[in-house]
Amino acid sequence: MSDWIERLRNVEPMEDVQIDNELVAAMEQEFLSADDSSFPGINFYTPTFKVFETSELKDCGKSAWPAVSITGGDCKLQCDHCKAKILEPMIPARTPEQLWRVVNGIIEEGAQGMLLTGGSNHRNQVEYDNYYSTIRRIKDEYPDFKIALHTALVDDDIALCMEQSGIDAAMMDVIGSQDTITQVYHLRRSVDDFESTLESLVSTKMKVVPHIVIGLHYGHLLGEWNAMEIIKRHLPDAVVLVVVMPFYAPESRPFATPDPHAVGRFFMDARKTLPATPLLLGCARPAGTVKSQIDAYAVMAGLNGVAHPADGSVELAARLDRKVRITPACCSIAVGDEVMALDGDNTGLEIDLNVIIEQERQRRNLAKNAKMGLGGIPIVSEIDKVSATGCCGA
Ligand code: SF4
Repeated sequence: MSDWIERLRNVEPMEDVQIDNELVAAMEQEFLSADDSSFPGINFYTPTFKVFETSELKDCGKSAWPAVSITGGDCKLQCDHCKAKILEPMIPARTPEQLWRVVNGIIEEGAQGMLLTGGSNHRNQVEYDNYYSTIRRIKDEYPDFKIALHTALVDDDIALCMEQSGIDAAMMDVIGSQDTITQVYHLRRSVDDFESTLESLVSTKMKVVPHIVIGLHYGHLLGEWNAMEIIKRHLPDAVVLVVVMPFYAPESRPFATPDPHAVGRFFMDARKTLPATPLLLGCARPAGTVKSQIDAYAVMAGLNGVAHPADGSVELAARLDRKVRITPACCSIAVGDEVMALDGDNTGLEIDLNVIIEQERQRRNLAKNAKMGLGGIPIVSEIDKVSATGCCGA
């Protein structure tokens, strides 16, 4: 049994998680042959790494980094995995005036920034033209308020407008398969259009954080490796990996749950292909056992950050001698995590193995007790007092 598998089995919540032994052995080999910079510390973004989850922290992600849609819930593309459902819970700002009012309101409620997005037109463009002057006004009035923009497809001119309006971070999905673009997105655009969008964005001063949605082709991996090669050619500031959660797929075009071992293999390849680029696992991924498998692989493959880690992931990282940091952030809105992650390695609280193991034990015991009827009794430890800072600056 490889050393890493033994260490994994010592992590109580992961002792029965099914993993591919050969893949883990390959990851361990990569680790042993890599220099330190290829296996950096790991930052976990989570509101739950503490004995008691306070309501302030639970809510803080939403109020700190709300998502705002300039089209409300409307989207012309109606991709098979989404059907515009992702937009529904967002705050609508269908006019520039409404955006100004929304931003003033959320800043008053404590927001540090926002994800600005909207539904696409038939060419996978979000039509921001009328909004740039309002965005500029927001940044002039509130320079510390961070704006991450879902850009969709752009050219050099549009990317420049985004930069000049003061956008801090630009995000887009990179799709590496023509079949996925045509069939899942119903889009008459090419893989090259996605590459040239990335090229336009990285030529600006904005932070650029592309996403790869793993399993986007009806739950199967198809264009992911090509997407990674595209990213390698343009080297953005960070890459967010998410795993498709096809809640909204129509019955006529169902999605499979992506194979966690294939996802793990992709993590390992991504790490090798982009050794110096921060790789973050975003919060979107299937729940349950698959999530435990995916998160174990994320830790072992050497990703830089994991949002909402599965139970045991933090302990596993510590047992693998990774330098562990915890940023107590909610990630229903992943943008805050990403922007914070771009600020460097200094976010989060560094925690040693013994504290982590003790913390995890306490949390599991509390969860067991809660099931036995003790839920709702607030227990605050010293760790709480420390780790409850940072998310909202509270
Ligand atoms: S373009 Fe975006 S919002 Fe619209 S359906 Fe596709 S994934 Fe959803």
